[in-house]
Order: sequence, then structure tokens, then C-alpha cells
Amino acid sequence: MTAEEYIASERHEDYPGGRLCYMVSEEDALKAIEMARNEKVNNTVGMQGWICPKCGRVYSPTTSMCSYCSNDKEIFKPCCGI
Ligand SMILES: [Zn+2]
Repeated sequence: MTAEEYIASERHEDYPGGRLCYMVSEEDALKAIEMARNEKVNNTVGMQGWICPKCGRVYSPTTSMCSYCSNDKEIFKPCCGI
């Protein structure tokens, strides 16, 4: 479940001033923030090294492109942590 899905499942309708608003409790909002943070960590290739899909060279998390073939367009596939 994503943070957005969690909020959608926990929110309730309210009509302050006659206008529809969706409200979530602070507890639910904080949990959604926590979930979003975890998602970001899980999606960050930077936590691991990566292999250039073109030439197969292995790079550290701080290297954002392949210096050998200048490949920064293709999707990097994470490899074992280095
Ligand atoms: Zn390369």
C-alpha cells in the first residue's frame, strides 16, 4: 500500500463552510509520511551500487552515469551493495 492509498482509505469527508474537504487525523497523516519515507528509501538506487546495462561496468552509488560509454539514459539495475 502506498501512502496515497493509505490516506484514501483513512480519510473522511467534511464540509467546513459547506465545501467538501477530505480530513485525516494527525496520527494517520504521520503514518502516511512514514510510509512515503520508506517508499523513497526502497526506490533509491543510490543505496546500492549499479551496473551499466551497456558495458557491464560496476559503479558506486555516488556515480550517476557511466564514464566509459556515457550511458545515463538507460535504466540502471542495482547490484550487490558496494
Ligand atoms: Zn557503460
